[in-house]
Amino acid sequence: MIKITQGPAPAALDTTEIRAARQRLRRRYDADPAACRAPGSERLNVPATLYNAPAIKAQLIAVQHEKCCYCEANLLHVGYGDVEHYRPKNGFRQTRGATLEKPGYYWLAYTWRNLLFSCKRCNGGHKRNYFPLANHPAGRARSHHDDLQQEQPLLLHPTHDDPAAHIDFQHAVAVAKTPRGQATIDLCGLNRKFTLERRRTHLAHLESHDSMADINPATMSPTDLAREVAKCGSVPALVKRILQARTIRNAAALDSAEFAGMVRATFPSLPQR
Ligand SMILES: [Zn+2]
Repeated sequence: MIKITQGPAPAALDTTEIRAARQRLRRRYDADPAACRAPGSERLNVPATLYNAPAIKAQLIAVQHEKCCYCEANLLHVGYGDVEHYRPKNGFRQTRGATLEKPGYYWLAYTWRNLLFSCKRCNGGHKRNYFPLANHPAGRARSHHDDLQQEQPLLLHPTHDDPAAHIDFQHAVAVAKTPRGQATIDLCGLNRKFTLERRRTHLAHLESHDSMADINPATMSPTDLAREVAKCGSVPALVKRILQARTIRNAAALDSAEFAGMVRATFPSLPQR
């Protein structure tokens, strides 16, 4: 997980249809708050058709470099991914197993800063409707009349928080530096089996490239040089391999790189921009 620079909202979030949908949800709440807060109420449920518009999703995918906002997997080659609401739109749970509380953050259903692109494993498999606060229930915003600034979310916000201040990595395993980091690892399943295996493989490849990138034929002993040339087949092939390794290493911690958060924690001197 890295901090995402989201940029300005797309024009597709300011259409007549979306403005009307926002107003409709607010009016519906104001007409009968108690009914909207009733368990199981669907009065403020938000259809996926508007926030999931292709132009909105395409911009999220672009600013996130085609990666999940939580696990940083490149996912478009195996799936479509989700438009995810940081604050759940249709209801929320403070803890695992708790009852779904109503309404959700309906007034943020079409708010750019609440929208992210995520994989189905992080969103639908793990995070789902969980949105715990350190100051629940007193600090919980329950409607568009409440102040979101009073909330103390435990889940890190990929566009507001710096995940590196909360989550470290030890041999590809995400390790919490803070309670919010731990909550985020748990809520999003950041150490789930297949993601962890993928990160370990990625790190092993990068460590191999890192070793190769540090080779300098001009300063090697004849014995070491002969050994490395033998591995690659010729001196030009060795030089080509070294240059390739340097290129890969220099791109591994950029915002666009898969698992950049883990790479930055492991190789802090690599360029990040
Ligand atoms: Zn993910």
